[in-house]
Amino acid sequence: MAENRYFRNDMPRFVAETEEAINGDSLLKLLALPYDKTKEKFLRAALDLKEAIVKETVNYTGRRAKDFTLYTGALGTAFLLFKSYQVTRNENDLKLCADMVDVCESASRGSDLVTFICGRAGVCALGAVVAKHCEDQKLMDLYLSLFKEIQMPYGVPNELLYGRAGYLWACYFLNKYVGNETITSKHIGATVKNMLKEGGQLAKGGNCPLMYEWHGKRYWGAAHGLAGIMHVLMDLQMKPEEQDYVQGTLCYMIQNRFPSGNYPSSEGSREDRLVHWCHGAPGVALTLAKAAQVFGDEGYLKAAIEAGEVIWNRGLLKRVGICHGISGNTYVFLSLYRLTRDVKYLYRAKAFACFLLDKAESLISKGIMHGGDHPHSLFEGYGGMAYLFFDMVDPLQARFPAYEL
Ligand SMILES: [Zn+2]
Repeated sequence: MAENRYFRNDMPRFVAETEEAINGDSLLKLLALPYDKTKEKFLRAALDLKEAIVKETVNYTGRRAKDFTLYTGALGTAFLLFKSYQVTRNENDLKLCADMVDVCESASRGSDLVTFICGRAGVCALGAVVAKHCEDQKLMDLYLSLFKEIQMPYGVPNELLYGRAGYLWACYFLNKYVGNETITSKHIGATVKNMLKEGGQLAKGGNCPLMYEWHGKRYWGAAHGLAGIMHVLMDLQMKPEEQDYVQGTLCYMIQNRFPSGNYPSSEGSREDRLVHWCHGAPGVALTLAKAAQVFGDEGYLKAAIEAGEVIWNRGLLKRVGICHGISGNTYVFLSLYRLTRDVKYLYRAKAFACFLLDKAESLISKGIMHGGDHPHSLFEGYGGMAYLFFDMVDPLQARFPAYEL
């Protein structure tokens, strides 16, 4: 069962780039190309995919988005357009992005979902940032005031997709792109205090200093659990006791990972199966890479590198997307490359991305690979692959969408 989730990774452990013609299949030829030429191919593919995805989103949603979310809906296409604008500076992309956020704004009115990836915070935050880039002060102020109207519903969870962590990420996004203190540290601090309080209460009596539940399960991964929550907390200027909670939680996870180096999807799970961003080593690896950077501790770097080995061996998934597909897993290598500047990781990122470039379309058409339950979406479908290809143009600037700032 487990081996059916991913392709055996038969790609060479390293291929030197060369101007010379080489013998081998199309993938090997791609891997041997000088990076300047590979980059052009990634950009071309990203632009073509973006066109197709925009067309599909407009056809599907018109002026009324049934699904406004960044995860599977129209805001994901808007976020892809913003990425395209960041890479190409094409003003049409920015304008189209603004139009699409406007559609998402109408569709998300009355929603009580509060996060960047699945809620109204993502709509209002991206709206404000795009309005700033369009130099439309009035529109930016409108989106900011809508953002500030968002209330935490009673019983809101703490995880990334539906909880406080995902709301906080939207606050950080605004502070990065609109300006420091757009959302005040006082407001952010109050949210963090609630997260730490609830995490501490649930952890009582156990060996991990923080613990959280989503729908009754104590998840570890990036989407619903500890990895995602710790990742977001590390974007803060933390007090020493807050740092201790986060570091204690990360150490607990490292000590209790599977013998294979993979991470359980939830507390106590013995099923060493998933190697996804949402559940398993990839999401945890990104958190550990960030911990290495924030705390300057070699132990986190070592653990992140070890998780990276699991992803190289078992992460060539039979899906294309960001959440549980090859595109998302590729970001771990990009993160390790940014951290270590070791070309081995750039090669690995390139190998996974070239595998998609070379084979995804044909494998999906043959039914060997799955195009995603929402095939054009950012987190489950081609949208994520297009986003990755844009990021491959300048790998040091690459950031996992809506997760790495
Ligand atoms: Zn997933």
